[in-house]
Amino acid sequence: MEYVSTRGNAPALDFEGVTLAGLASDGGLYVPRHWPRFSTEEIAAMAGLPYAQLAQKVMQPFVGDCLSEQRLLDLCEAAYGRFAHRAVTPLVQLDQQHWLLELFHGPTLAFKDVALQLLGLLFEEFLSRRDQHLTIVGATSGDTGSAAIDAVAGRDRIDIFMLHPHGRVSDVQRRQMTTMLAPNVHNIAIEGTFDDAQAMVKRVFNDPQMTSRFAIGAVNSINWARLMAQVVYYFAVGVQMGAPQRKVAFSVPTGNFGDVFAGYVAAQMGLPVERLIVATNINDILHRALSDGDYSQGTVTPTAAPSMDIQVSSNFERLLFDVGGRDGAALAEQMRSFEASKAMRLTNAQREGAAALFTSARADADEMSGAIRWAYDECGEVIDPHTAIGLHAARTAGIDPAVPVVTLATAHPAKFRDAVERACGLRPALPARLGDLFEREERFCELPGDYAAVAAYVAEHATPKG
Ligand SMILES: *Cc1c(COP(=O)(O)O)cnc(C)c1O
Repeated sequence: MEYVSTRGNAPALDFEGVTLAGLASDGGLYVPRHWPRFSTEEIAAMAGLPYAQLAQKVMQPFVGDCLSEQRLLDLCEAAYGRFAHRAVTPLVQLDQQHWLLELFHGPTLAFKDVALQLLGLLFEEFLSRRDQHLTIVGATSGDTGSAAIDAVAGRDRIDIFMLHPHGRVSDVQRRQMTTMLAPNVHNIAIEGTFDDAQAMVKRVFNDPQMTSRFAIGAVNSINWARLMAQVVYYFAVGVQMGAPQRKVAFSVPTGNFGDVFAGYVAAQMGLPVERLIVATNINDILHRALSDGDYSQGTVTPTAAPSMDIQVSSNFERLLFDVGGRDGAALAEQMRSFEASKAMRLTNAQREGAAALFTSARADADEMSGAIRWAYDECGEVIDPHTAIGLHAARTAGIDPAVPVVTLATAHPAKFRDAVERACGLRPALPARLGDLFEREERFCELPGDYAAVAAYVAEHATPKG
């Protein structure tokens, strides 16, 4: 499989190349040149497969001959063997129509483990093949950082620099990052918001001073391999719910548009998807873009669902590219104007293309708490604030009552136990696999929200590519 940039001006790469490159050199994001498609017979044959085997089948067309079928299966078995639930991503029924897909049984309690546990292994495989060193630079609103650090801590060929917005991640999230004391782990608390941190990471990728000395890699969902790994659980749900005969709707708590874009990819690959509901909190740029074509950056307001406190959704560019006729030059122009004015209108083709599959909904703080209470009082399930926003959207999106709606449960409630306790009175316990998180030593550095300071810190601590 070949990958092309959404901005049409970077070299096409194979799977190994895009995994290590992250962002394309023209500032765009890599997407497969075409969507592989499964026949209805192939989808029917997925029913009942163990998760790792399903993962190998769904991902092999994207990996191509960069990994043999056996090698990819081995890596999937290693990655998903670390999950605390035998089903990896179990489905839980809430009522006649609604279900939760629990994606938080990995080592750091959020759905990001599903992709990052595999990505850590892919990095190691490809780096040792090339005898190379990788410098990962990432920004996190909390969950990516802990999942990425867990996936690469202690690996010889990788240094990881993770920027988090100072004081804006939960105590559990921060400690999951800062108590990893492996010498290749560098946590940076920067002044500012997640969007500020993400903008700095993008600058590192486009800074020749950095890219000439270091091989810079990405663990944010700009990295194609992450999205690819997330396509798997849409197929897992689909076949459990009766695909290819029966359609399913998904409600996805959305920030950077990575998780829900994976649902779009699953639909392009032949999975019958009724609707993809993009659930946002009051940081609602995606809701405004999808409901009325207005993609304009507001200011970020911190909420109880910090992984969704985002006003620029990187992966939305992948959708705009695909539904806008895959015209890289036109999209590059549109994105340049967005970057200059912080606002743009979707074209008619983009709006219509998105509307064919996506619906959006926004939940404020009361609606989020209401959904936590509903799940607890009516169904006996304790859910986290991100999941609650998804569930609120699922229950208000007007989906045909005959169609099952699966809300992606993106974080374990204990990761956000203060907000959960405020909403429903119950304080979820941390699972035993987190052990003595609150007794461990923390290590991180604090930097101002200033690109030069961040670049200098990375340059001082990273290993040159050789
Ligand atoms: C990252 C994250 C999201 C948002 O996912 P995107 O792929 O960025 O849209 C939602 N919920 C939780 C708990 C997350 O960690």
